[in-house]
Amino acid sequence: MSVDFLYPEFEVVRNSDRCVNCRLCERECSNEVHKFDPATETWRTDDSKCVNCQRCLAVCPTKALKIVRSDCAFRENANWSNQTIREIFKQAGSGGVLLSSMGAPTPLPVYWDKILVNASQVTNPSIDPLREPMETRVFLGKKPNKITRLPNGKLDVKLEPQLELSMPVMFAAMSYGSISYNAHAALAQAATELGIYYNTGEGGLHEDFYKYGPNTVVQVASGRFGVHENYLQAGAAIEIKMGQGAKPGVGGHLPGAKIVGDVAKTRMIPEGSDAISPAPHHDVYSIEDLRQLVFSLKEATEYKKPIIVKVAAVHNIAAIASGVARSGADIIAIDGYRGGTGAAPTRIRDNVGIPIELALAAVDQRLRDEGIRNDVSLVVGGSIRSASDVVKAVALGADACYVATAALIALGCRLCRSCQQGKCNWGIATQRPELVKRLDPNDGAKRLVNLMTAWRHEIKEMMGGMGINSIEALRGNRLMLRGLGLTEKELEILGVSHAGE
Ligand code: SF4
Ligand code: SF4
Repeated sequence: MSVDFLYPEFEVVRNSDRCVNCRLCERECSNEVHKFDPATETWRTDDSKCVNCQRCLAVCPTKALKIVRSDCAFRENANWSNQTIREIFKQAGSGGVLLSSMGAPTPLPVYWDKILVNASQVTNPSIDPLREPMETRVFLGKKPNKITRLPNGKLDVKLEPQLELSMPVMFAAMSYGSISYNAHAALAQAATELGIYYNTGEGGLHEDFYKYGPNTVVQVASGRFGVHENYLQAGAAIEIKMGQGAKPGVGGHLPGAKIVGDVAKTRMIPEGSDAISPAPHHDVYSIEDLRQLVFSLKEATEYKKPIIVKVAAVHNIAAIASGVARSGADIIAIDGYRGGTGAAPTRIRDNVGIPIELALAAVDQRLRDEGIRNDVSLVVGGSIRSASDVVKAVALGADACYVATAALIALGCRLCRSCQQGKCNWGIATQRPELVKRLDPNDGAKRLVNLMTAWRHEIKEMMGGMGINSIEALRGNRLMLRGLGLTEKELEILGVSHAGE
């Protein structure tokens, strides 16, 4: 008897009346859950391997399968949950750090759901977005504080380099290696069609994707994988990744098993070697050091590209952002507590950082108080799930939002949260060629364009309802927000009044 035995979390239920033994589920499941014995014409199912990715359900032609959550649980209580007990068993067996993917599932407050948006009634009439022009374009980068004229009397229209977005959304950093070639291709195509940007993450830029450069943000992370002159020149903007919401304060680790073929070539590291990004950048220990890195990247690209500095939302984020703004960065990206990841230590993901809503409100206020808000644009991410989250983020002070998990769901992700295993049955978080080809990049791009088009309509509708016809007029307009079920302190940090006030 093994003391390590854990009853499976999910059970695969097969309706034998419907099953025609086509064996599609057996072929499609990379986790090898289904096994058919042709001699006896019977099925054996290893539920312990099932991650509930629902691939088999989707391919089954007779809808003969169902995945249910097992109701066989430990005798849990409020202190010792089933999950806690399972994790202790796993660690007692392995001696290792627990790894997880996607965002923190903890039941901490989601402030977006405790904030309501205003609508015009009677006075300041609402605007019909189908009949009236609505401006969803945003420009990211430094903005002048005042209008100035040149000695000849003409307006000074020279601006620092900007990013132009057709709507206040960008696809957030996801590296080639953590996600597949086809997933990157879909994101790049969709960003180009939508007039927004996608982000290479820390894995470098595959040579096939240089053509999408005008809609690409290239990232420089602590491991500096795949960073070279052509790479920096290829992107429309450069992002220095100082931190990530899912794992603030720790580095990254892509196992050698995933460093194969083009992933190794693009990262410029040997096949099979672990890609380990250190926790800090080893040349950045102060804002002055960060300034040197910002300006060396500007220098390398002839001051033609905006520099983004991405930080995780942590306790003193307002002071950190103030420092980053003074480093010369054009855009600050803040990644919140619930941000997704391809792999992170579970304890870090679930216990470190703060929600993006509080971080955003605190940073926007601090930069305004210091008179430097126009020196930088703010992009926020960390579980932006819908158009209404975008509207609330903009009203709290964001210039734009980073979207990642929602984009992956559009590509087919079922949020099974097992990306770290590299066996994604939907061809997204995997490098196995037979799985990657399941994701059609053209189809994926179309679905991403559909999702963002729908969000853009919804953003316009919500703006119209408020009597606002441009994103710029919504940015930082906290009068349009009311809180519900929040403490005085939470309302104070968010800078919004309680509903009814
Ligand atoms: S892992 Fe996915 S494909 Fe395999 S049995 Fe479970 S739901 Fe079906
Ligand atoms: S990307 Fe794939 S492995 Fe990761 S959560 Fe989504 S479906 Fe699961």
